Amino acid sequence: MDLKTFIRDVPDFPKAGIVFKDITPLLADPAAFAYAIGEMAKPVAALQATHVLGLESRGFIFGAALAQKLSLGFVPARKPGKLPRAAFREKYGLEYGEDALEIHRDAFKAGDRVLIVDDVLATGGTANAARRLVEQTGASPIALTLFIELTFLPGREKLSGLPVFSVLRY
Ligand code: AMP
Repeated sequence: MDLKTFIRDVPDFPKAGIVFKDITPLLADPAAFAYAIGEMAKPVAALQATHVLGLESRGFIFGAALAQKLSLGFVPARKPGKLPRAAFREKYGLEYGEDALEIHRDAFKAGDRVLIVDDVLATGGTANAARRLVEQTGASPIALTLFIELTFLPGREKLSGLPVFSVLRY
């Protein structure tokens, strides 16, 4: 299945110069979405992860589906102020702006093996913040899985030491 036919390029969104990868046609097609999750699962199935950490917002969609596919627990990394209990916070720079992610302090325990999941890897700032969040809890980030990797940006290099897997590369 040619998954790239389910991705729409939207120029100059959310600001001039950014080509936004719109995944909503993929999500709307059950066969294509299931195939995409299967492709994301293949290289990480043997890594003995205990949890998936999904990054708000589109990382929730891929991460929750992948967690179910691999029979792993799902933990959401949320934007600041959304979690109801004590949380760790990590700030990061985006391809278009600045933000932060939070997880509950008790989301993981030492010895947990965490697979970080998002839709798109661009500069790597978001994923790197997620890695630091996992480390703050004493758990181990074991890999990063993306649906899309923008290879013209240095995301993968920024995450040196962490195995990175992607299904579609541009
Ligand atoms: P970065 O931190 O630069 O790797 O950016 C990754 C995050 O921003 C992901 O959560 C993506 O959802 C979003 N993102 C960055 N660039 C794009 C893009 N060109 N198209 C769609 N989403 C993007």
